[in-house]
Amino acid sequence: MAPVDPHSFTESTHPATTHIALTLYFDFPSSTIHASALFTLQTPHSGPFFLDTRSLTVHSALHPDTATPIPFSLSTTTSDPIKGTLLTLTLSNHSSFLLTFSTSPSSSALQWLLPPQTFNKTHPFVYTQCQAIHARSIFPSQDTPARRIRYSAILNIPSDLSAVMAASHVTRRPPRDDDAPALASLNLNWCSQDRVVEEFVMEQPVPPYLFAFAVGQLGNREVGPRTRVYAEEGSALLDSAAKEFEGTEEMIREGEKLFGEYDWERFDLLVLPPSFPYGGMENPKMVVAHELAHSWTGNLITNKTNEHFWLNEGFTTYAERRIVEAVQGEKRATLNVGIGWRGLNEDIERFKDNLEFTKLKNNQQGIDPDDVYSEVPYEKGFQFLFRIERQVGRSAFDEFLKKYIAKFKFQSIDTDTFLDFLKENIPGIENQIDLVMWTEGTGIPADAYEPESGVYTSIVSLAKEAANGRMPREEEVADWHGQEWELYLDNLPKSIESSQVYTHSK
Ligand SMILES: [Zn+2]
Repeated sequence: MAPVDPHSFTESTHPATTHIALTLYFDFPSSTIHASALFTLQTPHSGPFFLDTRSLTVHSALHPDTATPIPFSLSTTTSDPIKGTLLTLTLSNHSSFLLTFSTSPSSSALQWLLPPQTFNKTHPFVYTQCQAIHARSIFPSQDTPARRIRYSAILNIPSDLSAVMAASHVTRRPPRDDDAPALASLNLNWCSQDRVVEEFVMEQPVPPYLFAFAVGQLGNREVGPRTRVYAEEGSALLDSAAKEFEGTEEMIREGEKLFGEYDWERFDLLVLPPSFPYGGMENPKMVVAHELAHSWTGNLITNKTNEHFWLNEGFTTYAERRIVEAVQGEKRATLNVGIGWRGLNEDIERFKDNLEFTKLKNNQQGIDPDDVYSEVPYEKGFQFLFRIERQVGRSAFDEFLKKYIAKFKFQSIDTDTFLDFLKENIPGIENQIDLVMWTEGTGIPADAYEPESGVYTSIVSLAKEAANGRMPREEEVADWHGQEWELYLDNLPKSIESSQVYTHSK
């Protein structure tokens, strides 16, 4: 017996969950979801079976056909501050079981917004953020990217709202009595007049952290043959988002040229209410390029555990920049490399007393992934891949990337699997690049690429000149976007005189 992932109770000797059929009843007044989940295991299992949970109340565990109770215990007394609470079922040759449970208002994956916190201010809104290890606060699961799952979901929501998921939409229909027999004992108003059901399926095996939904007063606009933008209905937000994302299909086609066919059918976008706490929207096109790139690297090929997170983010940063270069030009891609380089150096400095987290492959035993989140997997990962590209040439590297994606798609892999495949396909690479230093060493290797972007350098020196009271002239900032301003502000001297700021604001 050994855990497969330092961030999960999942046991390597336990069969994998292959499918979960979820039924979710959304109770907005109490910020709670009441739910059932029918699990299918790869093989029948007897004895203890472990699932991850966090802040869930488990009501029952049943044999799905006979409704015979299955013994279970939720070890709240031994809750782990990082992993959460272990749910142990005692199975006897079961290959499926049915759980009923409720989330808590403090669920770490769920963000419940009251009407005043939304754009329209008329309806409530809820959305998920499961990465890295928060899916377990919505439903019990083997919550590790090493265990990919297919799922179906029936969402029972107020009829004046609608739902979107990172899954295919099947139907919107009136609720039925037989939708969720397991939830009968909870006395929910399942079939009430003011409720509606939305059904979804995810037929591809995905890591649990990709489980995602949003429920609110949502509208949508078509912006391409496989892309719709969702945002709060009837709002200026939806109109401006539709305009902003017009070029998405062009990005998808560029991505396909580089990395092979787009395997997820649709690429829809959701714009959250403005109170969304994460940054990024100041440059929507780059955010879209990044999220799109994840369709190949991260979602198709996934890191086996968060200790290999660079396999998701380093590849995605590299892929994002290739898409940006193809669509927006080399100048912008180079500026992004420059901004990334600066962020990497800052984070290497931030971790100077904790060098483990300056390694691409690192040890996260007893570490909360949210606490060591940094630019390292993104930018050092990008640098490593760019180093290989510079060694073998772009066309050979492109060919390698396509092969890598085709070989490992819908799988979860670790750093060694990547390195073995690299050495096999680019013989002798280990004699040209110190692969061990790049993946296991601390800091930034000497053969990393220090960018020389003309735009980057001129913005940084303009910012430095602010110390002498020299503010940029209007023509110097005429074609600046959010990213250029961000870089300028980041590089301003830390103790700038208020008189200088005043000068600028005039
Ligand atoms: Zn990413």
